[in-house]
Amino acid sequence: QRGLVWLRNDLRMDDNTALYRAAKACNALAVIFIACPQTWRSHGDGDNVVAMRLRTLKALQASLAKKHIPLYFLELRGFAQVSAALEQICRKLNIEALFANAEYPLNEQRRDAAVRETLRSVGVPVEYCTDRTLIPPGSLTTGSGEGFKVYTPFKRAFIARHDNRDQGFEPLPAPRSLGADHGDLWPEWIALEGEHNLVRAIPDTVGDYGVAPGGDSRVLEWAVGEGAAKTLLEEFSAIVADYQEQRDFPAVPGTSRLSPYLNCGALSVRRCVQMALAENDGRWVGSSEGASCWLSELLWREFYQHLVVNFPRVCRNLPFKPETERVPWSRRTEDFERWCEGQTGVPIVDAAMRQLNQTGWMHNRLRMVVASFLTKNLLTDWRKGEHYFMQKLVDADFAANNGGWQWAASTGTDAAPYFRVFNPYSQSKRFDPDGAFIRAFVPELEGYSAKDIHCPPNDLFSDRSYPAPVCDVTESRKHAIEVFANLKS
Ligand code: FAD
Repeated sequence: QRGLVWLRNDLRMDDNTALYRAAKACNALAVIFIACPQTWRSHGDGDNVVAMRLRTLKALQASLAKKHIPLYFLELRGFAQVSAALEQICRKLNIEALFANAEYPLNEQRRDAAVRETLRSVGVPVEYCTDRTLIPPGSLTTGSGEGFKVYTPFKRAFIARHDNRDQGFEPLPAPRSLGADHGDLWPEWIALEGEHNLVRAIPDTVGDYGVAPGGDSRVLEWAVGEGAAKTLLEEFSAIVADYQEQRDFPAVPGTSRLSPYLNCGALSVRRCVQMALAENDGRWVGSSEGASCWLSELLWREFYQHLVVNFPRVCRNLPFKPETERVPWSRRTEDFERWCEGQTGVPIVDAAMRQLNQTGWMHNRLRMVVASFLTKNLLTDWRKGEHYFMQKLVDADFAANNGGWQWAASTGTDAAPYFRVFNPYSQSKRFDPDGAFIRAFVPELEGYSAKDIHCPPNDLFSDRSYPAPVCDVTESRKHAIEVFANLKS
């Protein structure tokens, strides 16, 4: 049987369910990746996440070539063109079955349903596999059969079902080598109707995305590919025991930094679970507090992935809680711009935003702090922050990002209650006690003592380039709470 594996955000050979199943079922196998720059733009994907995707794809193509599995590349404008293109490709390559790993946001689900329908009409079955999540979204429900709206009961139900040594999430091996190049089976390129042809060469630019980000971006410092992800996971396994204690301090490398790899798929979530269970007596809640805590974070990821399937409303640019559509968000674009640029005059917020702008990544504690600051203290629509994060993050993922923003803005599931507003100064003192993180990203404040750096005294502003705070944290907090309280009445 001749099979085609359609890769998306699952760019690896190891433990890739679709690739594994295709390799078992077929004796001739090719892989395709379809770039859809117009749809990516409309989804808010920024240069950094696309660069990570394309660089990872190039590394994967080289690994697949060693196994004699060709990787084809196709650029289309958007998802709407995918079905027709795949139909042509299946015909021209005599494909008998298509395999892919399921994706869950609404537009991705619609695209995949259309592909299944179109290929059915030409007799090519399509198999979508569970791979991005541990279990199929929708398969874990409350007693009344609904999707979970709150994380903690979701986690409890998940663990009750799976905390058993015999029910691991065993990773699958990479496909075997196909032994020869099969050059006669797989042409170098194929002409397609429309603007683009199916080719082998992965370009540096798709649509108006450039792979190599310029300027001062340090995104290129992220090593790419499965090997890099595996090394990082191994290194993290040596410190996972300390995760619970270390994970909240942005100046300390206490978290895994695996999110960019999980999101483009260079690493599977099952490999992460396997590592953590091994450190935790095979249990989800075991003797290692660090490993148990890290497994809980992987379940946050799982929870948000399930959420977009159970409550597709969140994919429509809408708040999970309908009443929060009435929040009178501020129209002050200047505040938002200062937040984006890391010029709010609140040191921990600025350091965090500069970390994002310069490296494409931000520590989780700080994501919560800056999201709370934007949506509560500056009363700015969470969708503006969500979009900015998508533009900048190298680990941008719709489900996690939307979930995180709605959580912080108190518009989401399991949301922080509206009256719980992070105080950026207290957060700063608690989680960056000596100001090391602030100093690393806000050089203007280098000379301040550990005591003053969190909230530099007023009189010192005059001779510094660092701005005065964009708002009064206490007053703005009070105002936000009033606004949210009024929604109830
Ligand atoms: P670790 O602490 O090592 O955790 C391991 C993995 O667990 C992470 O790689 C991630 O896959 C998952 N994870 C951890 N915390 C969360 C969480 N709260 N929600 C969902 N998954 C989690 N994560 C993204 O992957 N992409 C995003 O676009 C994204 N946007 C966010 C926006 C906001 C406003 C907030 C508050 C959080 C966001 N997160 C996002 C979640 C979290 O901040 C990152 O996953 C984490 O900081 C990545 O660093 P790490 O790999 O070192 O995490």
